[in-house]
Amino acid sequence: MKRIVIAGGGAAGFFAAIECAEACAAQGQPAEVVLLERRDDFLTKVRISGGGRCNVTHACFDARALAASYPRGGRALIGPFQRFGPADTVAWFNKRGVALKTESDGRMFPTTDSSQTIVDCFLRSALDAGVELTARCGVESATQRPGGGFALTLSDGRALVCDKLLLATGGSSREAGALAQSLGHTLEPAVPSLFTFRVETPWLRALSGVTVEPVEVSVPGTRLRERGPVLATHWGLSGPAILRLSAWGARTLHGLDYRFPLHIHWLPEFTQEALCVALQERAISHPAGLVMKMPLRPLPNRLWEQLVLAAGVAPETRWGAFPRAALQRLLAQLTRTEFQVTGKSPNKAEFVTCGGVRLGEVDFKTMQSRVAPGLHLAGELLDIDGLTGGFNFQAAWTTGWLAGRALANGSPSGAAKFSHY
Ligand SMILES: Cc1cc2nc3c(=O)[nH]c(=O)nc-3n(C[C@H](O)[C@H](O)[C@H](O)COP(=O)(O)OP(=O)(O)OC[C@H]3O[C@@H](n4cnc5c(N)ncnc54)[C@H](O)[C@@H]3O)c2cc1C
Repeated sequence: MKRIVIAGGGAAGFFAAIECAEACAAQGQPAEVVLLERRDDFLTKVRISGGGRCNVTHACFDARALAASYPRGGRALIGPFQRFGPADTVAWFNKRGVALKTESDGRMFPTTDSSQTIVDCFLRSALDAGVELTARCGVESATQRPGGGFALTLSDGRALVCDKLLLATGGSSREAGALAQSLGHTLEPAVPSLFTFRVETPWLRALSGVTVEPVEVSVPGTRLRERGPVLATHWGLSGPAILRLSAWGARTLHGLDYRFPLHIHWLPEFTQEALCVALQERAISHPAGLVMKMPLRPLPNRLWEQLVLAAGVAPETRWGAFPRAALQRLLAQLTRTEFQVTGKSPNKAEFVTCGGVRLGEVDFKTMQSRVAPGLHLAGELLDIDGLTGGFNFQAAWTTGWLAGRALANGSPSGAAKFSHY
């Protein structure tokens, strides 16, 4: 019986292991499918994902549209998504008794709103499919055997040989890519993605907890520009528009050492001219009103007050006596407030890492390595990362599914049948 080892008991590893074991059984060619996890527990990230609810996937059923949510890896994923996309994910979980629901923004969660449902589903499905699950047992090294297959050493000192090997070791540390590198793969440098910005401007911090939407954020001198909600926090800026900007700009912003100017257009649905007319109309319709107390909607009162002060408009200024120069300064604040970003959210607080195994070194039909025959790779170990919204898990399920199917197919590559495992 051929032995297939999966290194990494996370999202991609479990998906691949279950698919592989089920496909082997369906083909009448049972295999020994062994999943090794170096930590004490399996599926750690799945458990904590989505604030404990697990945002399993995104209700986007067109492969190309879906691929557009991946700052890195989108193009390579179009074909794979056509073979196993979000609709297949929904069906996969449904078949195993887990119903998913869609929220208004397209994110999909288990109807139980608990990531434990997903963890339980994986553990049960893996055991039912006959996958051997071993925790506290990392793969320390892997070498290709001359006749095919791999020789592994495990963290408990044991040796193990296998016919095929899947690396699904995730992407949050340098160690995660070490095995792939040792087998000849190139790693694109790991840099954080999906982080928030530190901004020290006191008036912004005073707005902590205020969400404004939609706004347009941009980094002057780059092509980085995003539209969506932003959230003022006690130490800077967060929210979907900031997270998206951080993902698309992961490498650029890393290159700037996370110190750069950030522009915000607070009312991007209006042109500068339209805003100028709106302000002038106020002066005619409410000459006695205080500028500070009459925000342009939909801006929140607190933000408007701060923008008026930042524009150097005195609090007692009335619309009827609004100097032209001050009006221009307020317009500039509304359409292009400049903040100085001085850092990113603390290390390891980010959700995903950008970087990983270079995509050209992998055949995306089978997730097989083009460098080391018999080796497969899946999940965040690859240089793939998506925006928030369930995209990262979808990439793990899709690449795990392809790898699992491919591992089940084809003949064993002749590895020895005995080991000390
Ligand atoms: C706080 C948080 C919340 C998130 N929420 C969401 C969400 O709701 N939706 C979404 O789409 N994405 C979410 N993500 C991202 C998502 O969790 C990852 O993209 C996904 O887990 C990647 O799956 P993976 O299997 O490739 O890697 P992982 O889930 O990281 O699994 C890799 C596993 O391999 C193990 N391992 C590493 N090296 C070895 C070795 N040598 N031998 C054996 N085992 C090894 C690791 O211990 C780990 O358990 C979140 C991430 C974080 C940090």
